[in-house]
Amino acid sequence: MELVWFRRDLRVDDNPALLQAIRSGNPVLALYVATPLQWQQHKMAPRQADLIFRRLGELQNDLKDLGVPLLYEEVDDYQQAVEQIQRICQTHSITSVHVNNEYELNEVIRDERLREALADANMVLHQYHARCLTIPGSALNKQGHYFKVFTPFKKALLAQWQPSAIEKIEPCQANSALDIVTQEWGNAQHSFRYPRENSQAWPVATRDIRQQLRDFCSDTVQIYQQERDFPARSSTSKLSAYLAIGALSPKQCVARLYANGEHLSEGGSTWLSELIWRDFYQHLIYFEPKLCKHKDFVEWAPRIQWLYSPEYLLSWQEGRTGYPIVDAAMRQLNQTGWMHNRLRMVVASFLTKDLHLDWRLGEAYFMSKLIDGDFAANNGGWQWCASTGCDGQPYFRIFNPISQGERFDAQGEFVRQWIPELKEVPNKFIHAPWKYSEFDNVDYPPPIVDHKAEREITLALYKEAKDL
Ligand SMILES: Cc1cc2nc3c(=O)[nH]c(=O)nc-3n(C[C@H](O)[C@H](O)[C@H](O)COP(=O)(O)OP(=O)(O)OC[C@H]3O[C@@H](n4cnc5c(N)ncnc54)[C@H](O)[C@@H]3O)c2cc1C
Repeated sequence: MELVWFRRDLRVDDNPALLQAIRSGNPVLALYVATPLQWQQHKMAPRQADLIFRRLGELQNDLKDLGVPLLYEEVDDYQQAVEQIQRICQTHSITSVHVNNEYELNEVIRDERLREALADANMVLHQYHARCLTIPGSALNKQGHYFKVFTPFKKALLAQWQPSAIEKIEPCQANSALDIVTQEWGNAQHSFRYPRENSQAWPVATRDIRQQLRDFCSDTVQIYQQERDFPARSSTSKLSAYLAIGALSPKQCVARLYANGEHLSEGGSTWLSELIWRDFYQHLIYFEPKLCKHKDFVEWAPRIQWLYSPEYLLSWQEGRTGYPIVDAAMRQLNQTGWMHNRLRMVVASFLTKDLHLDWRLGEAYFMSKLIDGDFAANNGGWQWCASTGCDGQPYFRIFNPISQGERFDAQGEFVRQWIPELKEVPNKFIHAPWKYSEFDNVDYPPPIVDHKAEREITLALYKEAKDL
């Protein structure tokens, strides 16, 4: 009997672990193990937990169509997950376990332990790559090292890689005589023991996710290049939540992108680049486990003198900084679990370069709120903005929250959507409402810091850290 352990790959399509288990010709069992204590340590957002919970119901249905039962277990952490899997292997006379790799340090260690434990009992762990477009380590520079700059990485990746059709998965014939009854998903036995927050705005049925991808690739992608930076417009795919939990794979995205022919539009090429950024950061954590230990990427960054200010942090978290574009973005995050990419950059820059707070505080808060929380992308994004990262933003490039608002939300549509208190403020002052003559009558705080002054402080702090 083969066992497929599902983790952040909650799909049946483009899932090599499942495909190969079925192709073995042996009966196949599927398993999901909830690890609430581990999730807490990784600060997984309750909204993402809800998304995973709901998605598991769909996965159970999709697996049922293939004749594969989904077992469910709840333990505390990865250590217990490994022990539990050993027990399951004994109970069901499993000979091989199939998994798709994850590249974060704790996950790598977990799989290493499992491989050793299985080997001791004469079982095999089969590991596959399905999280990225390319296998970490497959795109290297001439010296055989991983790329530290995105553009050559992208070039190397595109040079050695061809978009390919997704292999169709067939039902598991060997399971026809299998006599294992599993509980319908959502049954009281599936308690999940983790706080959950409503994620209904994200449909989880496979056909709905596929349709969203199809609609984006046949329609919106055409305007992606011109429109993607404007948060009031719906011009990005909003597929990140599915990519993060593996309800969708990047290869499925690219296969759909190329479905209309080999020549990509400008929008299509830009979208492909974003998916390659995703690979870039996944490859990076594979090569640099220190990133999973909360370390800066660049060697001089630990010398940056961050400020300690719980009050500033709270104002930022709650969207009360007095800078409308920052506050609107944080309220979007708090209320929906998602934030537009441009605004992720703006609020991250504000936290680190206007409030001088350690990027790790922002990274952790994002993780605790994001429905698409993904360690590699989040860490990469935060370190890029804080200028401590691999191919990060130069430290002297500091976003101005007023001009970012004026440029990307000129009519204040986005700001007014999330901060109704500013509805009456004229466009001219919408990104600097304290300059409005009637500001005293508006229920909105004045700026907690002066951007110009803080910018100078940041330049000095970073220069000092770099020159030391
Ligand atoms: C500070 C910061 C934190 C971030 N945290 C996360 C996170 O936890 N999870 C996450 O998925 N993305 C993160 N991103 C990247 C990006 O903001 C989101 O992927 C994007 O906003 C998701 O919206 P979308 O699906 O509409 O993206 P689209 O524009 O449609 O892009 C398609 C896909 O490409 C990937 N992608 C796009 N931009 C990036 C990027 N810069 N880095 C890595 N992958 C990218 C995502 O999987 C995304 O779904 C972060 C960015 C920053 C600046």
